[in-house]
This record gives sequence, structure tokens and C-alpha cells, in this order.
Amino acid sequence: MSYKSPIEDFKYNLAMLNYDEVIAGIEKFKEYDSETLMSVVSEIGRLNEQEVLDSNKIGDREGLKYVTDGAEGPEVHTPERFKKLYDAVKTSGYVGATMPTQYGGGGAPFTTAILAGEIGIAANMAFYMGPGLSHGAMKTILKKATEELKDKYLPNMTSGEWMGTMCLTEPQCGTDLGLIKSTAIPKDDHYELTGQKIWISFGEHDLTENIIHLVLARTPDAPEGIKGISLFLVPKRLDDNSRNTIYCGGLEHKLGINSSPTCVMNLENAKGWLVGEKNKGMEAMFLMMNDARLKVGLQGIAMSEISYQNALEFAKERKQMRSVVKDKQDKDSKADNIIVHPDVRRMLMNVKATTEAMRALCIYTAMKIDLAEDHPDEKVRQEADDFAALMTPIIKAYCTDRGFLNCSESLQVLGGSGFTKEYPLEQYMRDVRITMIYEGTNGIQALDLVGRKLTMHQGRLLQNFQKEVQKFLSENKDNEEISSFIKPLENALNEVTASTMWLMQNGIQDPENALASATDYLNLVALSSMTYMWARMAKFSVGKNEPIHKNKIKTGTYFVEKIMPELNMYSKKVQAGKSSMMDMEVAEF
Ligand SMILES: Cc1cc2nc3c(=O)[nH]c(=O)nc-3n(C[C@H](O)[C@H](O)[C@H](O)COP(=O)(O)OP(=O)(O)OC[C@H]3O[C@@H](n4cnc5c(N)ncnc54)[C@H](O)[C@@H]3O)c2cc1C
Repeated sequence: MSYKSPIEDFKYNLAMLNYDEVIAGIEKFKEYDSETLMSVVSEIGRLNEQEVLDSNKIGDREGLKYVTDGAEGPEVHTPERFKKLYDAVKTSGYVGATMPTQYGGGGAPFTTAILAGEIGIAANMAFYMGPGLSHGAMKTILKKATEELKDKYLPNMTSGEWMGTMCLTEPQCGTDLGLIKSTAIPKDDHYELTGQKIWISFGEHDLTENIIHLVLARTPDAPEGIKGISLFLVPKRLDDNSRNTIYCGGLEHKLGINSSPTCVMNLENAKGWLVGEKNKGMEAMFLMMNDARLKVGLQGIAMSEISYQNALEFAKERKQMRSVVKDKQDKDSKADNIIVHPDVRRMLMNVKATTEAMRALCIYTAMKIDLAEDHPDEKVRQEADDFAALMTPIIKAYCTDRGFLNCSESLQVLGGSGFTKEYPLEQYMRDVRITMIYEGTNGIQALDLVGRKLTMHQGRLLQNFQKEVQKFLSENKDNEEISSFIKPLENALNEVTASTMWLMQNGIQDPENALASATDYLNLVALSSMTYMWARMAKFSVGKNEPIHKNKIKTGTYFVEKIMPELNMYSKKVQAGKSSMMDMEVAEF
């Protein structure tokens, strides 16, 4: 098992996306120019490449222990090394890096969390789910809670002393949160919460003394459905350090992420405090979910990267068969390294070209989130927010679907070895599979894109994106050096326009048409966005001699020739509509 943080690629992306002017140019982030940012991220890279990476396999094999006779109720014990590791991560300042300095954070841009997060996830995805979710919880408290709650909870969460969770799911509701039954009854200055939550990541563990749960529940007078849900902060420990009545009722046994505790959480008159307005819990929770959705997309990217690195190392060492080209044959050996074979290169290039494009798109979106939150000009903030809102479901769904495919394709490079526990690929494939399901399944992300994001503000989100791409095309239409990227991008934009028109014409009068085409449409826009990223990378790299620039042109060329054409297929599928699936009677399945 090996992993090297993709520091050079991060630096490349920051330069290509003009980070120093766009983000470090904002007063609040002036101390975080790309050099400073990269020195912070490189330090995190060293910690993860050494200490955290080793713990990944151990965590997978050792798993978690559910102890029913703990001193204060059921306990969850994480793998032996995790406490020491968590303390090291805490000391590094990783947990609160992007939180405001007022609450003890580092005040860094969100982009930092995406760069550092990719490294952490690659080294140990299951372990980093804890700090990752905690970040979303902190952000929600920061934006929606009262000053009193912020002062009481944020400093300890920012320092990593305490961790946060999100408690939405119940046995009868996952996707459909309108079915939530947990109740919150007002009492004195607080509420008493009762109910059962399931599959709560890091709901109970021994890494921190206190755990701050954000729980969705209904007040007695709440309207039915999604409009009657409120959000509450429910700490494991109360002010006097006594236990609140929220306990872990058991752990799930899962396909992967074996060291991430997935807990049943039972609440019996547990003390909680309202976060945000009553009955506006979903709005508050969306703050956490959007953050978490981007980070889940990042999990797909990180797992693609580490799988690729392992596959590449194997392909350069394993010798099988001969190259069909005599000059390429190794004269000192009876067989050649498998990397000489075109089909092995096809697999490696598929992973490399998609991973680099997904990373560029994710960093670009993270920068837009920084602009949306902190740019002084309202118009810039609004346009950036539109971009991030449009890309969130795309990154969540596309990068995790592709992340799983990329882990599978990397495993394939190892042949039978990939299927064995001698190598880490089988674990990566098991671990990454959940990313397509949690934080809203990928099917639901597609519905969010087509049903909400496309129609929001009379279609402004997509129109702004189309305008941005069109502007790039107009500026570069005569640039012969990158014409091999410009033409595919024109094609991509045309296909997005045609499929969007089709959806507007056929989806409004018959919504099943829109829903039937939603996933194909999401893949179409994702591949178009990635083609745009490759065109921008080509523009940045063309004519430069350093190896990374030559490498980008070659990798981008592979993308536009061998992967981008998939988008024409998706466009065709969108426009085929619903009938071939909806004409089937249930009994005919
Ligand atoms: C390991 C793990 C960790 C988790 N961590 C957390 C956590 O920390 N906090 C938390 O609250 N939850 C957590 N979850 C729950 C997770 O978010 C849900 O599993 C997920 O949202 C899907 O809900 P569900 O499993 O009930 O599937 P269901 O909602 O039952 O959906 C089943 C299938 O039907 C599809 N479907 C449903 N409705 C529609 C529709 N209208 N149109 C099209 N398709 C539809 C879905 O896409 C899916 O394929 C976790 C789950 C797991 C497995």
C-alpha cells in the first residue's frame, strides 16, 4: 500500500484557477495565499501519508467494539490506534481550520478543507468521516444557532475536543424525511427529545469526551410532513458533565468503512435546544447536507486517486506477456511490465483523466463557495452561490459513481491480486461503495438537479453556467493551439442545451419524463463540466514545457477523445424519455 499526496496537482489547480487573485485577493483570506495554503496542506499530507495511512487496513480488520456494560451505558470502542491518531489530527489544527478565529478556528478558506480533506480521506476514509461530519455540524451551528449556543459549543468543536454528528434517518424514513416521528416537547428553557435514529455515523465513540448531535424532530404543534421538522442540538454530556439521555442502541455490520461507527441512537427525553427557527429544520439541515454532499463527492475523488496510485505501482512491476512492439520489449526479461499493454493503459488513463477533472471541478466549486460567502460584491456572491448550488448534486453523484468505477477499474489492473486482501484495492472498493448512498442517494441528487436546481430562479443557475462556458468558447474560438479541446466543449454545450430544452418541453407537461431522465441528465452535465475543466487546463498548459503541463495536455486529450463522447450517449438517453421503463406493468418486472 502506498500513497503520496497529490501536492503538485493541487498547486497546479490553484494556479490554473487563479486562486491568488480570486480568493487570496479577498481581504479576509489575504494571509492564505497559495504558498501558505500549500504549506499547511503539505504538513497535513505528511501526517496522513505516514501515520494515518497505516491505520486504514488495521481499522478495516479490527473494526469496532460495542460494549453494553460501560460505566454510563453502552460504549463504542474504536480501533486501538485511533485515539492517538485523532489527537495528532486535532493538534494539527485540521478540524477547525476553516472556522472563524472568533471561535478558535484558523479562518482559512473552505478551499483548504477540500485540499486537506482529499488527503485525509485517501489515507483513511472511515476515520475522517468523524471530523468531516463535525465540520458540517459546526457550520450549521455557526449559521443558525443562537449566540449563546455558539459560544457554548463552537470553541470545543473547533479545537476538536468535541465532535458533531447529524441525526436525520429513522427506521421508516431515509430519503423521505417528511416521515420523521421523533418528538421534541418544550420544557423550561429547552426541549425534551424522544425517538429513534438509525445509521448515525460517529453517533457514539471514544475519540472525544462529548458528542454534539444535531437532531431532526417534530414539536407537538408542528404541521404534517417536511414543513413540520425542526432542528435541535442535543449534547451527549450536559453542562455539569452528566450524561444526557441519548444512548447508542447498537452498531451496524457493513460492507465497508468498518471502523466508522454507524449507530442506532435512542433518545428518551434527551435535553435539546432549538437551532434556527421552529419548523425550519430542513432549511438549517441543508446547510450541513450541502457541505457534507461536496465532501462525499470528495470521497469519490480521494478514493479514485489512491486506487490509481496503487494500480500504477503494480502495473510498473508486474510482468506478463510481451509487448506487441519489438522495440518496447524488455530484453532482460521473458515478459514485459503490464503497463506496456494498451488495455492496461486504457484502464489507468480512464482513472487518471476522470480523477484530475473531478478534482479541478471540486476545487473550482470550493473556491466558488468561498466567493459566495466572503466576496464583498453581492453580484459575485450570488453568481458563485448559483454555481455551487448547481454543482453540489453533480459532484456528489458523479464523483461517487465514478469513484466506485475507478476503484473497480484500478482493482482490475491488479488482476487476481486485486481481489485478495494482500492488496488494499478490495477494501477501497468496499469502502467507497457507501458514497453513492448516503447524504441522499445518487438518484435523489439527480432529482435535486432536475427538479430543484434547473427550475430555481427561472433557470438562472444553469443559464449562468452556460454563459460562463460560452464566454470561454468565444474568447478562445481562434486559439488554434487548443482547438482539439474547444470543439468538444462546443459539442458539450450544444448537447446540454438540447437536452435541457427537451426536459423543459417534455418534463413540465409529464414530470415522469424528467424523473426518468434525471440521472442521464446529471451525467451529461457532469461530463460537460469536466470537458470545460479540461479545456481550461489545456489553455493554461499549452506552450509550457514543465512535465506537469505536458502531462495535462496528454491526459486531457485522452479525456476528450475517449471519455467525453459518453456525453453524447447520455444526451440521447435523456431525450429517449420515460416510455421504455414506465410502460412496463409492475407484474412484468
Ligand atoms: C454507512 C451509513 C452511514 C450513514 N450515516 C448517516 C448519518 O450520519 N446520519 C443520518 O441521518 N443518516 C445516515 N445514513 C442514512 C443514509 O443517509 C440513508 O441510507 C440514505 O439517505 C438513503 O435512505 P434509505 O437507506 O432509507 O433508502 P430509501 O429512502 O428507502 O431509498 C431506497 C431506494 O429508493 C430510491 N428512492 C426513494 N425515493 C425515491 C424517489 N422519490 N424517486 C426515485 N428514487 C427514490 C433511493 O434512491 C434508493 O435507491 C447512513 C447510512 C449508511 C448506510
